[in-house]
Amino acid sequence: MQEYLTELPTVVWTPQTFKVFEVMQPYFEEVKFSALVTSAKRLPFEQLSIIKYYIRKLKLNFQFLNFTTWQVDSKESLKETLIYCWQMAWSILLDKGIIISPCLKCKKLTEPNKNKIYNQSPHIMGNAFDIGGGLDSNPQREFDFINDIQQKDKFLKEHIIQILLERSNNCVHIGVKV
Ligand SMILES: [Zn+2]
Repeated sequence: MQEYLTELPTVVWTPQTFKVFEVMQPYFEEVKFSALVTSAKRLPFEQLSIIKYYIRKLKLNFQFLNFTTWQVDSKESLKETLIYCWQMAWSILLDKGIIISPCLKCKKLTEPNKNKIYNQSPHIMGNAFDIGGGLDSNPQREFDFINDIQQKDKFLKEHIIQILLERSNNCVHIGVKV
């Protein structure tokens, strides 16, 4: 039997995200709608890889010369306080419109919203998965379809708490109840 809603081999499920995925599958099959889950649970070091990727992409590597050596928990001092070595770069990325979560819960270091505390990604907590993920040119279709089946299905209505069109990643982000 051909599957329509499928996953990349790199996807790491949690029981709560996998259950939602399983309940969604027959709806995709029914209308022969092919879609791909690109990411579910992520670890803090994977979030750091995303930050490093954008440092290169936005040419911030001239400002953060040893960024390739950063670890998730390595720290450095900024004036009198200790910060994570990636914390300033992550703050600057937010200012440049790259909306990503920090590797670990921390404060933003730049204005606007300086000192505001940001939580880890729901992906790190294992409560989210993405469909589309840059391989699909039109995640709007997935977004509409998932909204539609969420309305129809009692389980999905209860367990999907967020459906977000992430234009920068070209994917639909699905937040799942813990
Ligand atoms: Zn996501």
